[in-house]
Amino acid sequence: MQNLTLEPQKRQWTDEELEAANKRLEAASPEEILAWALEQFPGKVTLACSFGGVSGMALLDMTLKLDRSVPVFYADTDFLFPETYALRDLVAERYGIEPLAFKSALTPLEQAAQYGDALWSRDPNLCCDLRKVEPTARALESFDAWITGIRRDQSSTRKEVAIVEWDAKFGLVKVNALAAWDETQTRAYLAEHDVPYNPLNDQGYPSLGCTHCTRPVQIGEDPRAGRWADFDKTECGLHFEAPVVEKKPGFLSILKNLAPGG
Ligand code: SF4
Repeated sequence: MQNLTLEPQKRQWTDEELEAANKRLEAASPEEILAWALEQFPGKVTLACSFGGVSGMALLDMTLKLDRSVPVFYADTDFLFPETYALRDLVAERYGIEPLAFKSALTPLEQAAQYGDALWSRDPNLCCDLRKVEPTARALESFDAWITGIRRDQSSTRKEVAIVEWDAKFGLVKVNALAAWDETQTRAYLAEHDVPYNPLNDQGYPSLGCTHCTRPVQIGEDPRAGRWADFDKTECGLHFEAPVVEKKPGFLSILKNLAPGG
């Protein structure tokens, strides 16, 4: 008889369960929220850390202090900043962990051969799907919950995120443990606990993605305004559906002039 091993179906949390969890956790500290997540999903929770923003670094420090065995992963698009890769290496050494890289099934050359050169400049949603969303789906396959660094103060698209959500896109629970914190609180945590972070975050890049699609933000701009600045796009499609994007009319591309290494 054939021996079939099937992944157990993940159970979708009901609205009532989510509401109860959020009621309980809304005033909790990030560490309390993380402890709750680890207790709820023993061995089945993973942490997403892009090494490009302060939130992920605070969460990484908090989570590993609670449980060093929590897997840490990142979507390696092949287009990350050198400073991002350097921070990943520093974290690996400092914390004694091995962050798991999930890459696109296509190398950059294969992507260019299949979709043409510089896909990000023509169809960034497709490029993000290929290099971020699909690899992240693979990273999350065997988990029941993931921890992310999205915060309500980061952009207008994020201002209403709940602490605990059902992530319909990837089919698991999403824990936004820093949702209620702001940039100042997050940076204060890093300073107090001597947590390393990406040096570009202090050089006009509060939010970092790929070299091709990130420019520094100007004073008064939304922290995520430097992402896909040529387009009406502020999300990669991991946390929110990426809207149909159009190039901003008359927008003079400044990415090449401003982005270090890009
Ligand atoms: S951020 Fe830009 S280069 Fe990176 S995956 Fe998305 S569209 Fe492609």
